[in-house]
Amino acid sequence: MKIGILGAMEEEIRLLADGMTNKHFEVIGKREYISGQICDHDICLVFSRWGKVAAASTATTLIQHYGVDRLIFTGVAGGVDPELNIGDMVVADNLVQHDMDASFLPGIAEFEIPLLGISDFRIGEKYVQTAIEAVKKYLDTDLTQEVPEQTLAQFSITRPRVVQGTIASGDQFISSAAKAARLREKIPGLRCVEMEGAAVAQVAHEHDIPCLVLRTISDRADHEAVIDFPRFIASVASFFTCGSVLRLLELL
Ligand code: SAH
Repeated sequence: MKIGILGAMEEEIRLLADGMTNKHFEVIGKREYISGQICDHDICLVFSRWGKVAAASTATTLIQHYGVDRLIFTGVAGGVDPELNIGDMVVADNLVQHDMDASFLPGIAEFEIPLLGISDFRIGEKYVQTAIEAVKKYLDTDLTQEVPEQTLAQFSITRPRVVQGTIASGDQFISSAAKAARLREKIPGLRCVEMEGAAVAQVAHEHDIPCLVLRTISDRADHEAVIDFPRFIASVASFFTCGSVLRLLELL
């Protein structure tokens, strides 16, 4: 087993790389791939950059050049489910590309990937449950040792929790409550929006390998969505996702 880990935040990749042994660096297509071991697993770690094309090309390199046979994608996302608070975490059990629309063509539904014929990339239940268990362990036991209560309080985070559900990806940063509500109407059970997960899920599907997508809610996909983003990522989100991935690697 060799695991490819893609992060959409440079900070979380740096944190994960700190705990990696036998590190080897290589640059391909403007990405730095870091190979080595974490928790006795062979890993290739990379900052994917943002957007579906960036994520898909990085995932393809991980599979074809580095021979990974499973993928984990982490980052932040805008929460569109009103139940979610900033700091909560979402494990995708389904991913949709919300900006894919070839429905003008006969027989193709909105969000359906032309020629592939599917619009939902579903993640195996066993995997989802393992990831949920890992995140719970992180949030229940490690969290306040890594991120001081004071910092959590600055972002009004009290008891972050993890949920599973649908994540929608598109090449747009969503910062409009109306747009978020429209997506939630069209995609039942939608938890959050981001810019990479469903692209990685498509690549994994087309190569018949499992993938997991794990996100920390950083904003509500409304007009306040960009406030304090860099500070939230550096002081909160990168610890949440890095810590959860380490817990997940212990369980795999
Ligand atoms: N860190 C940046 C902002 C990142 S925005 C900054 O310093 O300003 C792009 C990343 O955030 C992508 O990885 C995307 O997947 C995720 N993301 C977070 N909230 C989002 C939203 N409301 N809409 C779309 N993508 C979002």
